[in-house]
Amino acid sequence: MLEIKNLHVKLEEEDKQILKGVDLTVEAGKVHAIMGPNGSGKSTLSYVLSGRDGYEVTEGTASLDGADLLEMEPEERAAAGVFLAFQYPVEIPGVGNMIFLRTAVNAQRKARGQDELSATDFLKEVRAKAKALKIDAEMLKRPVNVGFSGGEKKRNEILQMAMLEPKMCILDETDSGLDVDAMKLVAEGVNALRDEQRGFLVITHYQRLLDHIKPDVVHIMAEGRIVKSGGPELALEVEHNGYADILAEVN
Ligand code: ADP
Ligand code: MG
Ligand code: MG
Repeated sequence: MLEIKNLHVKLEEEDKQILKGVDLTVEAGKVHAIMGPNGSGKSTLSYVLSGRDGYEVTEGTASLDGADLLEMEPEERAAAGVFLAFQYPVEIPGVGNMIFLRTAVNAQRKARGQDELSATDFLKEVRAKAKALKIDAEMLKRPVNVGFSGGEKKRNEILQMAMLEPKMCILDETDSGLDVDAMKLVAEGVNALRDEQRGFLVITHYQRLLDHIKPDVVHIMAEGRIVKSGGPELALEVEHNGYADILAEVN
């Protein structure tokens, strides 16, 4: 479903190559995790897939269900079903969370050629999904992410994801700054969205998130490439031995 081939990316402003030939295929229904040392290019990969400015693809391809993602504007990628949960969720003062969600959902439906959700249907859906994530009604009325705790922001991202029903969910360090309970809630939210049509790319520093979101495949990224792939046991290996052994093995 998501197919990345030989992806090379440099910074637009500087002559700095960050991704140096990433190959990765995420099949529908599968959860792939990416781990790797700081600065290896994990966030860059997620930004490039979501269409963020500042990066230039110098070689390679990325497609979703055969459609070239790299040709699309960020909104088109979202409409095609790519969702990126940000490492640092943005605050939007003055825009109520509920209004924001409803606008995003309806924009997405429009782009997909579906009718808008009625106010009642939207309310029903958002309340049910918020409840499952233990997000209270009051938080839905507040401005997006303003004054939310780290855990609340993360849960709010998962709520956005649940409402948008993306095909390909990319989570970048969704676990950073979360206490164990919040991490469990986030993981449950993700697990509730797992189904045969949907793929996940979960970027994480720590193995502990993967105790709760059981990945099908684990990749190790280093210096702009995926240097090793394996099953969940690879994450445990990293947890116990760090990256040094793996990096020594591939160098
Ligand atoms: P990771 O998420 O694996 O920690 P990143 O993708 O954030 O790695 O970064 C990869 C490398 O690219 C790092 O060396 C980082 O400093 C550099 N980099 C990424 N984006 C920028 C930028 N906008 N300006 C300068 N350097 C950047
Ligand atoms: Mg980083
Ligand atoms: Mg990062």
